[in-house]
Amino acid sequence: MALFISILVWLVTGYFGGYIFAHKGYSPRWGIVWGVVLGPLGLGIAALLPPTAEARERAIAESATRQVLWQANQRQVCPSCTRENSGITKICPRCGHRFPQGAG
Ligand SMILES: [Zn+2]
Repeated sequence: MALFISILVWLVTGYFGGYIFAHKGYSPRWGIVWGVVLGPLGLGIAALLPPTAEARERAIAESATRQVLWQANQRQVCPSCTRENSGITKICPRCGHRFPQGAG
């Protein structure tokens, strides 16, 4: 039973080690090894590792994408014809009204 729990803990820490490493831009294989060898403490240390430049760029790109998605889900009512348009609409499809750039 103790062996079973140990294996379960290894699987879980290995999984999260791989996840944390991949998220920070490192090879997930080393994260799995890290998690299995060092256990939950290793996960705490892995969480403190600085992300690679690539991971930082990816995080910035993801945040920019989320912002555009958020804006696309907003609604802007056309002041000319009152049609409800998406937040990223530039020209109203009903009346051709041009929305000011960057308006939410
Ligand atoms: Zn319109």
